[in-house]
Amino acid sequence: MARVPGSAPANRPRRVVVGEGMNETDSGGNAKTDVSLPAAFDALPLSPGLLAALKHLGYQTMTPIQAAALPLALEGHDLIAQAKTGSGKTAAFALPLLRKLNPRWFAVQAMVLCPTRELADQVTQEIRRLARFEDNIKVLSLCGGTTMRPQMASLEHGAHVVVGTPGRIMDHLERGSLQLHGLNTLVLDEADRMLDMGFHDDIVYVAQQCPLKRQTLLFSATYPEGIAELAQRFLRNPQQVKLLEQHKESKIRQRFYEVKHEERLQAVATLLKHYRPVSTLAFCNTKQQCRDLVEVLHAQGFHALTLHGDLEQRERDQVLIQFANRSCSVLVATDVAARGLDISQLEAVINVDVTPDPEVYVHRIGRTGRADEDGWALSLCSPRDRRRVDVIAQATGIDPEWHTLGSLQSGNDEPLVPPMVTLQILGGRKEKIRPGDVLGALTGEAGEGRAFTREQVGKITVTDWNTYVAVARELADEALRKLLTGKVKGRQVKVRALED
Ligand code: ADP
Ligand code: MG
Repeated sequence: MARVPGSAPANRPRRVVVGEGMNETDSGGNAKTDVSLPAAFDALPLSPGLLAALKHLGYQTMTPIQAAALPLALEGHDLIAQAKTGSGKTAAFALPLLRKLNPRWFAVQAMVLCPTRELADQVTQEIRRLARFEDNIKVLSLCGGTTMRPQMASLEHGAHVVVGTPGRIMDHLERGSLQLHGLNTLVLDEADRMLDMGFHDDIVYVAQQCPLKRQTLLFSATYPEGIAELAQRFLRNPQQVKLLEQHKESKIRQRFYEVKHEERLQAVATLLKHYRPVSTLAFCNTKQQCRDLVEVLHAQGFHALTLHGDLEQRERDQVLIQFANRSCSVLVATDVAARGLDISQLEAVINVDVTPDPEVYVHRIGRTGRADEDGWALSLCSPRDRRRVDVIAQATGIDPEWHTLGSLQSGNDEPLVPPMVTLQILGGRKEKIRPGDVLGALTGEAGEGRAFTREQVGKITVTDWNTYVAVARELADEALRKLLTGKVKGRQVKVRALED
């Protein structure tokens, strides 16, 4: 099951799309399998021990992503699997890697890379639970934030499976305490989050240390460009399985506001003050309108940035980093500039102008309401635009919900402030700075002020020449002082807060 007939060009993933019992067609023209029928694990080539563990855990039938991924992974294919959180991805890679283990051989035979210690610990626990009735299988978690020494000792005693964060795994490889000659399965779990956290180069380093003859399984909730690049580089003839989310429309609440044309820009501010989304993507039809809107929003104290074609790569990176790490409330963009943008947490999309193209409309609003979150899709329409709304309503089968701005005006007048602030550190990949160096500088004792906890530090993004770290707004001054008076990678660094 779940196979696309015909052959795919070399190293271009063959795609299988699975749904949760719905029957839409995939717009990419890919094969699609409906796995609404519950599938039992015992149809799979698994050992009695693994089947017993599944039974013990109360896993009676496969989840849709498991039903699509497991047969392929158990056949030995490389795999790109895309499904939201909570869909059962861990067992989808844990069962195939466990089935291949030779318990009598004390070598690391499988490795799972995870973005954080918490996730690595969860994966470690799940693998241990699934291996419960197998011969003595040792699963070791290797993450930063604790000393290397005990981990090195455990490695010396032999482990079959290691689960860890890319930075710490890399440290062990550099010291020679971790050897990968026996590895036959490499898993990249939550690959999109690992990239968000700046682990790209570490992943590349680690993957390059793995034997070429291996199975590579890549799991991700979203599929941004960076993931495609990784897959192209490290997976061989991968199969792709994707779990379509359940009807998105139900999570996206669409509202239409009738405004006079000249009220449009001010109306955006009114909507923001009323709905108070943390992150909003505002679509304009022209570059000039983008500039005008940002001006209006700035004048009223909003943290807004714009993406347009005239930005240099570095400027574009900076805008996207600030928006994605929640230190900018509003990103104003044209459809062209927003192409390829993949942001997981987006509370609202505002259509400053109604687009005449229903497909563009669907694409715009589909950016909110991701991953189980609700999202607002708010559209501003002048009387002239009403015809466009009719076209959209007809094409998408919605019954437009009309509201008036007047109903909002009594809203909250407090300024809308983003929860985070981005600190820019001069120095990046070219100076060999890694996310862990910045995290270490903030959570360590050096520098003025107290040590931060990991939880107080947000996304860390390392580019060629700069490193960006998000910190909670109320801690920004303290973090800035700590970085300025302390050291990053043993050196003093220049740091500034990025504020628009
Ligand atoms: P993901 O990695 O996709 O976020 P997890 O692998 O963490 O999801 O699984 C989510 C939850 O579902 C876990 O509590 C796990 O124990 C449970 N689970 C996984 N597979 C099954 C199954 N086949 N039947 C019942 N529960 C399952
Ligand atoms: Mg997971």
